This record gives sequence, structure tokens and C-alpha cells, in this order.
Amino acid sequence: MDEFELIRRYFVRPDDGKGVITGIGDDGAVLRPEPGRELVTVIDTLVEGTHFPSEMSAMDLGYRAVAVNLSDIAAMAARPLWMTLALTMPPRPDEWLDGFASGLFAAARDHDLALVGGDTTSGPCVVVSVQITGDVGAGAALLRSGAQPGDTVYVTGTVGDAAAGLSMMGSPDADEFLARRFLRPQARVQAGLALAGIASACIDVSDGLAGDLGKLLDASGVGADLNLDALPLSDAMAAAFDDDVGRRFAATGGDDYELCFTSSRSVPAEIGGVPVTAIGTVNDGDRLVCRSGGAVVEVDDSGYRHF
Ligand code: ADP
Ligand code: MG
Repeated sequence: MDEFELIRRYFVRPDDGKGVITGIGDDGAVLRPEPGRELVTVIDTLVEGTHFPSEMSAMDLGYRAVAVNLSDIAAMAARPLWMTLALTMPPRPDEWLDGFASGLFAAARDHDLALVGGDTTSGPCVVVSVQITGDVGAGAALLRSGAQPGDTVYVTGTVGDAAAGLSMMGSPDADEFLARRFLRPQARVQAGLALAGIASACIDVSDGLAGDLGKLLDASGVGADLNLDALPLSDAMAAAFDDDVGRRFAATGGDDYELCFTSSRSVPAEIGGVPVTAIGTVNDGDRLVCRSGGAVVEVDDSGYRHF
């Protein structure tokens, strides 16, 4: 099967999305933005052996490659519209491509996201780059830089699950819920949209809560106190790990793709179908201080660094 047959077979879908004038098949996609709205564009690359284990199924990989980008779109309070895909891979059987495409389109379907172009190349290992463009009302994008002293810090869902799931992968007592939190992250797109007008700043938790919250604080020029005792842990985490281990996963583990945001407003207990928990307070300092039982706790907030 040549490259063009491969693209036609696995990546062309008949029903194009909103505002797609010309999708896959020409030199470029032609897309029509809605008048008066602003575009938000994000890209993330997954490298075999670095961002995902070689044993990961093609279907989970396809799903994840879209979900991690949707999470960035969610953190901007944007609506996802169009995606492009750059896929590099060594020769793989048809079943692999089949699985990859079905995972990719499964993640896209829930959000009415159209694949409008891409690039397909062979290479020594699997590298997947997905780029997503969404839109937002003019001036309404939710930035990292808006947190103010006195704001409360919140996080959606539960944290630490994906890192805990990854740490147990392949072991006989691996927990299915925790593994799935790593393999099938659920981008908080609805929550992100609902945060417009509520949140003052927002970031998605991809590298670990403490590290990502630290980036939000830096961008806003403020500090915060983070109450480790308040971090929302899943029942599965509480069952599988001692409390202190669970809290360490929650504070530093990556790959949760929850939203961490700040607000001075009254925030409902549930936003966009996910529970929201208050976990700290913004102050006029210049760093993140983590506390447990009132005492300051040193937390490794370095996150994942590539270089
Ligand atoms: P060009 O040589 O002009 O860059 P290509 O031959 O690489 O175009 O691709 C042909 C068409 O298929 C283009 O519209 C491109 O966007 C699309 N395409 C290529 N690879 C993919 C992919 N993995 N997923 C979706 N569309 C793809
Ligand atoms: Mg061309």
C-alpha cells in the first residue's frame, strides 16, 4: 500500500467538520473561521519510548495523541474545530493503522473535531504530532497570566491517577481505572468552555500539578499556598496506595490532563460535568509553597524536562 492509499484508507472521513472548505487531498486545507471569533492553535508530539511505552496499543496511542491536544484547547477555554496529523512510523501491519485511526477518531468524535490534513512519513520509531485549531470569543481566551492575590486555586477531577497507573503498568496488581487514566485521558473541554467568565487563569495538568501550577503562578507574577491535604484523590488511588504516596502522585505525577485554575468568584462544585476542588490560595509572593497539616513540605515540582 502506498502513502496515498494509506491516507485514503485510514484518514479520510466523508463528513467534514464545521467551516471546512477543503479538507484532506489538496496541498493545504482551506478553513473558514467564524466572524468575530479568535483562533487558538496547539500542537503536541508523542515520541515512542519518551512519551509512551512501545507496548502501548495503537488505539490508545491514537486516542491519547488527540486527547493531550484537546486538553490544551480546554485550558484556553476554546472550542476545538480542526486538526492535522503528522505521523512517522516504521513499517507497521494494517491492524496497527486500523487501531491507531479508530483511537484517533474516537477522541475526535466526542468534540466534533475534523481531521483536515497531515503528513505521513517512515522513520525509525513512531512519532505522532497532532495540531488542533479551535476558536474562542474575541478576547475570551483563558490565559495562564490572570491570577491575582486572594484568588482560590482549584483543580478539576482527581489528580495523580495517570502517574500511579503508569507506575503499576505490567504488574499483576495493576489497577484498571488508574491504567485507563493514563491510556485514555479525558480532556476537560466542556469544563474549559464553562470556565470562561469564572476563572482568572488556567493551565492543564500535563507535567504534574505542582510544576504546572508553578508555571501559572510565574506567568501571573504571583505565589500560592497549596494544601496537599486537600488534593482530590480517586477511590482507586486511595485503595492502591498509602495516603502519603497517593498525595505525592497527586502533587507531582504527570499526564492527568485535568484543569488547574484560579478564581475570585464563587465556583460551583461541578463544572462541565466534572467535580471541582479548592486546593490553595494565591498570594503576593513569588513561589509555590506546599503544606500538609500546616507544615511546609518540599515537593519536587520540576515536572518533565526534555533538555
Ligand atoms: P504534499 O506533498 O502536498 O505535502 P502529501 O502528499 O503529503 O501532500 O499529502 C496529501 C494530502 O493528504 C494532503 O492534503 C495532506 O494534508 C493529507 N495527509 C497526509 N498525511 C495525512 C495524515 N496522516 N492524516 C491526514 N491527512 C494527511
Ligand atoms: Mg503539496
